[in-house]
Amino acid sequence: MIYLENISKTYGAGANTVHALQNVNLHIPQGRIHGVIGLSGAGKSTLIRCVNLLERPSTGKVSVDGQDMTALSPQALNKARHRIGMIFQHFNLLTTRTVFDNIALPLELMGETRSTIRQRVEPLLELVGLVDKANQYPAQLSGGQKQRVAIARALASKPNVLLCDEATSALDPQTTGSILELLRDINKKLGLTILLITHEMDVVKSICHRVSLISDGELVEDAEVGDFFTAP
Ligand code: ADP
Ligand code: ADP
Repeated sequence: MIYLENISKTYGAGANTVHALQNVNLHIPQGRIHGVIGLSGAGKSTLIRCVNLLERPSTGKVSVDGQDMTALSPQALNKARHRIGMIFQHFNLLTTRTVFDNIALPLELMGETRSTIRQRVEPLLELVGLVDKANQYPAQLSGGQKQRVAIARALASKPNVLLCDEATSALDPQTTGSILELLRDINKKLGLTILLITHEMDVVKSICHRVSLISDGELVEDAEVGDFFTAP
């Protein structure tokens, strides 16, 4: 489903060169929840952003769902990104739009009709438990509710991959638990492949099937979660 083949990413040049990723190889089969864990600055954000080409790898190949992402024209890349949802630490909602209109945004950008948008957004509101908040604005919501809106928006274009960039890092432990439960649900019910990055062991323990450890831009461990956390 997701293949990263020999990915490297360098920022800057000369004395300011940063090797954010070095020869990263990763395969995530369909339907799995894969976590990448590491310290701040290890390269987690760069890694996850290379999957949908928010960052273009300096070298190497990224393929998602059989498509070579690194070889697509800008127009084809836009289309391929509809198959890859993403959520962020700080939710990235539009403050001037209601919950409904935030979720509808990707569908509007795809040129869908109002009736298609309604048919698509309503079940998503139900899935994330926000039917009664449809007409509220982000400022009126708790952090957990904002992340639920962001999850619904990420699912609007019917992706088969969901990228989670520190999605629970701004949330308290209880809210984190409920968001992880929702992600687990989405993985089970919709069969979405999930790649998440986090600096929190508990997140990995709680929902990931498999985990990679990243350190200084290199993947240094890759194991089933049960094995990863078993004492030697
Ligand atoms: P993490 O998500 O694990 O905190 P990042 O991927 O954000 O790590 O960063 C990896 C390294 O690349 C860090 O040294 C960071 O400072 C550097 N880096 C990230 N983005 C940029 C950028 N746009 N320009 C220059 N350096 C960057
Ligand atoms: P996150 O909340 O996802 O960990 P970061 O603080 O790692 O966010 O990075 C936020 C943004 O700043 C990203 O777009 C990243 O590429 C960029 N960035 C991170 N480190 C640097 C850096 N040393 N120089 C320039 N840009 C950076």
